[in-house]
Amino acid sequence: MPVGVLTRITKGVEKVSCTQFGLGEANERKGFALAVDLGGTNLRVCSVELYRDTTYSAKHLKVAIPREIMVASHSAMLFSFIAAQVKTLLSTHHADKIAQASNQEPLTLGFTFSFPILQTGLNSGTLLRWTKGFNIPDAIGKDICHLLQIELTLLGLPVKVAALINDAVGTMMLRAYTLPPGSARTMIGTIFGTGTNGVYLEKISNITKRLEGDYDKTSGEMFVSTDWGSLNDTEVLPNTSFDVELDKFSVNPGFQIFEERVSGMFLGELLRLALVVLQASAPSECFSGWGAEGDPHYVSSLHKRWSIDSSILSIPESDSTLNLQVLRNVMSVSFDRHVTDITLKEARATKIIAHAIGKRAARLAGVATAAVILKSGGIPKKNPGNRGVDIAVDGSLIELYPGFEQYMREVFREIDGIGDAGEKEIQLAMTKHGSSIGAAITSLLCS
Ligand code: ADP
Repeated sequence: MPVGVLTRITKGVEKVSCTQFGLGEANERKGFALAVDLGGTNLRVCSVELYRDTTYSAKHLKVAIPREIMVASHSAMLFSFIAAQVKTLLSTHHADKIAQASNQEPLTLGFTFSFPILQTGLNSGTLLRWTKGFNIPDAIGKDICHLLQIELTLLGLPVKVAALINDAVGTMMLRAYTLPPGSARTMIGTIFGTGTNGVYLEKISNITKRLEGDYDKTSGEMFVSTDWGSLNDTEVLPNTSFDVELDKFSVNPGFQIFEERVSGMFLGELLRLALVVLQASAPSECFSGWGAEGDPHYVSSLHKRWSIDSSILSIPESDSTLNLQVLRNVMSVSFDRHVTDITLKEARATKIIAHAIGKRAARLAGVATAAVILKSGGIPKKNPGNRGVDIAVDGSLIELYPGFEQYMREVFREIDGIGDAGEKEIQLAMTKHGSSIGAAITSLLCS
C-alpha cells in the first residue's frame, strides 16, 4: 500500500481518551479556528469554537465548486475562489474576530486538502496529482498551503494557514475530540464519499520512509495516510470490462484504480457503462429508442460519460414498490427520459446491476478497512478495560447507501484475525463534518 506520511503530531500523542492524538489537556482544548475543506464536489468553509471539554459550536458555508474552476487554466483561480469564501464566512459571522486578529495574532486555519500530496510539514505539502475530476496542471509540484496563503493575504485577511490535513485525518481528529474520557481510542479514520481513503496512527519507529524534521523516533506516533484509493493493482482488484472502460476515460488512466471501484465519483459511471452494454446486447428489449453511442444528438444521458450520479445506486435498494416506480421516476430524471419510457424490465435490470456495483464497493471498503485494523494491532484482547476498535467514518456513500456498513461487516467476519467475535468489537462511528471541523481542531491544538 502506498504510504504518504501526514500530519505530525506535536503534543502528548501517547495519552489516550480525552487527550488522544495530542489534543491537549481539557483546559487547553478551547479557542477559535477556521477550516477550509477541499476534497470533492463541494467546498466547505467553517469556523469552530472549541470549549473546554468534548464540545464545540461551528458555522458552515458550503458551495459547489464550479466546473470551470476544477479545470482552471491557473491555480490562482481556484485559491482566490477559496479565499473569497473564507472572507464571506468571516464577514458574515465574525466581523469582531477580524478586527481583533488584525491587531493581535492572526486566526489559525486548518486546510483539508484531500488529494495526493507529499507532506513536508504541519502546514506545507506539495501536490503530486489531481484526482476526483480536478485538473489544474500548474498547481502540481507546488505547496498548496502557500498558494492559499497568498490569496488570503491578497484579500487582507488576518488568517494563517496553520495545518494541512486530509479529510480522513480530520474525521479521526473530530471523533477523538468528541469522545468522552474513558472511551476506546479512535484507531482509524475513513472516508467513503466522492473519494475514499483511510488513515491510522503509526509508531514513528515503524516508519521506514526517511522523515525530514524533528520527530521523537522512539515513542512518537504519526498519522499515516494509506491513500488506498491509489492502489492500482489490477491483478489483485476485480477488473471487469466496465472498470477498464471507465479507467480509460478517467482524468488519470491507470491511477486511483481502487477508488474507481469504491467511491461516489465513479459508481454512477460504472452503472451507466453496464447499461450501455445491456442496451447493445438486447437492443429490442432494453433501452430501445434511447439513442446509441456516437449519435450526433444523444437522445438520453445513457451515452453521456459521467452523467449519472452515484446516488442513483441507493434508490433501488430501498424501493419496495412492486413495479419499482420510485426507481423508474428517478431514472427518468437522471437519464432525461419520460417515466413511461422506462419499462419494469429495464428497472429490474438496473436494480441488479446497481446492487452488484454497490455491494462490491462496500466489500472492497471492508477489505481495506480490515487491512488497516490488522496493521494497527488488530482486535484488542478481551479484558475489562478493552473498549474495542473505534473507527471514524464519513462520506455520503457509507452514510446513505443502504447496507454499506453491513457489507463491510460481512467482510470483517470473513477475514482471519477478525472473525465473528472481532467484528462485534468494531465500532464504525459516523462523524459528520469531521473533514472540516477536524482541520480547525488540528490547526488550533496541534500547531
Ligand atoms: P465529498 O466527499 O465530496 O466531501 P460526500 O461525502 O457528500 O461529499 O460524497 C459525495 C459523493 O457521494 C458523490 O459522488 C455522490 O454521488 C455520492 N452520493 C451521494 N448520495 C449518495 C447515495 N444516496 N448513495 C450513493 N452515493 C451517494
